[in-house]
Amino acid sequence: MNFENNLAFARSLDQHDPLHHLREEFLFPQQHGEPFIYLCGNSLGLQPKTARKYIDRQLSNWENLAVEGWFEGETPWMFYHKELKEMMANIVGASPLEVCPMNTLTVNLHLLMVSFYRPAGNRYKIIMEAGAFPSDQYAVESQVKFHGYDPTDAIIEVAPRNGEHTLRTEDILAAIADNGEQVALVLFGGINYFTGQWYDMPAITKAGHNAGAVVGFDLAHAAGNVPLQLHDWDIDFACWCSYKYQNAGPGGISGIYVHEKHFSDSSLNRFAGWWGYQEQERFKMEKGFLPEAGADGWQVSCSQVIPLALYHASLKIFEKAGYIQPLRQKSIQLTAYLQYLISEVNNSLGFEQYKIISPARPEERGAQLSIVAKYKAKEIFHALVANNVLGDWREPNVIRLSPAPLYNSFEDVFATAQRLMNISKELLTSQQ
Ligand SMILES: *Cc1c(COP(=O)(O)O)cnc(C)c1O
Repeated sequence: MNFENNLAFARSLDQHDPLHHLREEFLFPQQHGEPFIYLCGNSLGLQPKTARKYIDRQLSNWENLAVEGWFEGETPWMFYHKELKEMMANIVGASPLEVCPMNTLTVNLHLLMVSFYRPAGNRYKIIMEAGAFPSDQYAVESQVKFHGYDPTDAIIEVAPRNGEHTLRTEDILAAIADNGEQVALVLFGGINYFTGQWYDMPAITKAGHNAGAVVGFDLAHAAGNVPLQLHDWDIDFACWCSYKYQNAGPGGISGIYVHEKHFSDSSLNRFAGWWGYQEQERFKMEKGFLPEAGADGWQVSCSQVIPLALYHASLKIFEKAGYIQPLRQKSIQLTAYLQYLISEVNNSLGFEQYKIISPARPEERGAQLSIVAKYKAKEIFHALVANNVLGDWREPNVIRLSPAPLYNSFEDVFATAQRLMNISKELLTSQQ
């Protein structure tokens, strides 16, 4: 599409956007009596207007039914998580049996590594992206130590080439092939939190399997953002949080995925708890753990009903949107429009003040653009916030802007670029 740098054009894109009305489903934070242009959904998605109602319903159940709420009422808590599974499965491309909401993300990463990182003999290494989200680095490092290995030996990080910001798929595949027989686990982010790069998940999975390794993904920045086919891509396991692109609230519940081919493998280790026990027999309270079929068998503690209710509210909006395909169509346009407008800002300044380090091709990224600001990066970021544009800041000089297709408009993106231009002109006069 040929974009235009004017408000009428942005508004006409909004008029033709079949998802435009969905922004009415969300609550926007305010400042100076005006709503923020919220481009921070990669960090914490906005609150659905229905969230309070979903929580209230469970508070009423608690009030009126107390302990009987586990088995009584419209949505007995014992089975409440099942109401979410089909919608979750639609978002990540899996069967409902393969997914389950539980715990929080890093906890689930640990639990899944207990099952799927099984070092033995020469095969004990983990391949991951350099610069992974710190929590993932700490989790992997501690898992490796737990098994008695030295992280500097057992963890292989694939890094960008000198002078580059993102990884080349060929380099990832070569790292896997080169270490072949020593690799126990390939564990990548779906989308890197810093650069916004969406890795070639099917290719990485295939290479990992060819090397004889297990392949898992942390989908914190991918789930609800880009189309995924976890089952068809033959990915072994994955987990994600629900509070970024999925708008389920701070500390929201996490989701796990386990490929069905692993369900019958009774040799898998688990850190078990009563909620993973076979559902029909759970309250016999017997000795000897027997897992429930499917991803539900990885549950440990009883369901977190209030976080489930929040995720339920947000998943219903994805259902309304028609899930990821329509959202992705809009997202590609929205992010490309921002990319175009940033280059317009540079053109107007007469130098490359803003360098986008996210991949230039839509196929290699989701909704996020990570932008290195050459001069006065932090001041410009603060000025954006003061002008009601909320993105986020990463040291030392990166501004991340993520237009979310559920609640951002083309006009939001246009206004962001306008404000960025005005701020830049004001703050950078000496560089012109
Ligand atoms: C956001 C994020 C986390 C956060 O994990 P929590 O356990 O939910 O605090 C972990 N890993 C990645 C890759 C993330 O993007």
